[in-house]
Amino acid sequence: MNELQKKSNLLYITERPSVTMQKGKGMYIWDTNDKRYLDFSGGWAVNSLGHSPDAVSHALISQADMLIHASPAFYTEPLLSYAAALTKASGMDKVFFASSGAEANESAIKLARKHGAVHLNGASDIITLTNSFHGRTLATMSATGKAHWQQLFAPKVDGFKHVEANNLDACFAAVNNETCAIMVELVQGEGGVHVLSEAFVYGLRKICDAYGILLIFDEIQTGMGRTGKLFAHKHYEIKPDIITLGKGIGAGFPLSAMLTMSKYDLFEAGEQGGTYCGSPLACAVGEAVLNELLENNWAHNAAVQGQYLQQALGELATRYPISSVRGKGLLLAFDVPHGDAGKLVSSCMENGLIINSPNPATIRLSPPLIVNREHIDEMLLVLELAFGKLYTMAAQQG
Ligand code: PLP
Repeated sequence: MNELQKKSNLLYITERPSVTMQKGKGMYIWDTNDKRYLDFSGGWAVNSLGHSPDAVSHALISQADMLIHASPAFYTEPLLSYAAALTKASGMDKVFFASSGAEANESAIKLARKHGAVHLNGASDIITLTNSFHGRTLATMSATGKAHWQQLFAPKVDGFKHVEANNLDACFAAVNNETCAIMVELVQGEGGVHVLSEAFVYGLRKICDAYGILLIFDEIQTGMGRTGKLFAHKHYEIKPDIITLGKGIGAGFPLSAMLTMSKYDLFEAGEQGGTYCGSPLACAVGEAVLNELLENNWAHNAAVQGQYLQQALGELATRYPISSVRGKGLLLAFDVPHGDAGKLVSSCMENGLIINSPNPATIRLSPPLIVNREHIDEMLLVLELAFGKLYTMAAQQG
């Protein structure tokens, strides 16, 4: 625990570097010593339009002047307008808005169980994948496929079965008349950026159709252009029954969504909701972000820049002990020798570059979708400096 944490009034929840961030613009963020960092983590895949984008500030200011909060018991103009825009863009019929990814997933879990109660004789089990991540509420931690989370904060929420990713036989074997849904991330982000195979995803759709169970795509990390298409499921050309969105959907403003089709509009009054669900401010921002994404085709930029970045990382892999360069669009990762990921993150941070390590052997990159070639070249120089320092030293010591 660092000195800043010890002195602060913050409950300890994670290790943070001993700097205080102050302002951001575009691809850069500055600390209180005016040190500038190039951000290739994008606030954990959140700052889709970069730091403090004009579209978001303008939407916030004009909506704040008009109406900040009514109550979830009222319709507001931004709520109706954004619901129409997001359902049109996603090809779904209905949406429920919330503030965090975990809440959107809780909502999906509740809707799947409601479907089980109404249509499947009370079936309530949900199949999820090992190595998955669905959030930090009690139900979404139980849904998450991290082995060491299963006993944390026991007793866990019942009704989740974990099967191996890309193992259709295991998934098929796990389905029975207690099952109401299958929930997956198409690219397992927190799990280290692992893309599900097409055959597996098609197979999941077939299983769900055969048993009348719901297919839920958790697109909280992969949605809103991140993987090079507006939604990751567009790579598979498969339509889910429920999609959850978060992170980039608000470009930094707390917003999330659960989308579904009219036939699953099943909640009774009061069964789902929340004080800030669909707040005018959040919806005004959400619509501004969606418009920016569509008008500038940032998803296409994610595809183009992601390909350039992957190629460059592949080239670095011929000279340094890095391997398995992988991912889609601007959700990328590579592996390093076990224990090196944290050292690389710190070394890059010292030299003004933010990257992320989801585990001790993996580096994940999720820069804002507005990134360009110059930013990538600037990032590669710092990354190579960090590789050089770590691996030349290691070679000398070895
Ligand atoms: N689902 C996925 C796939 C995620 O990557 C995350 C966050 O990393 C979540 C759910 C949880 O979102 P939040 O932290 O906004 O609750």
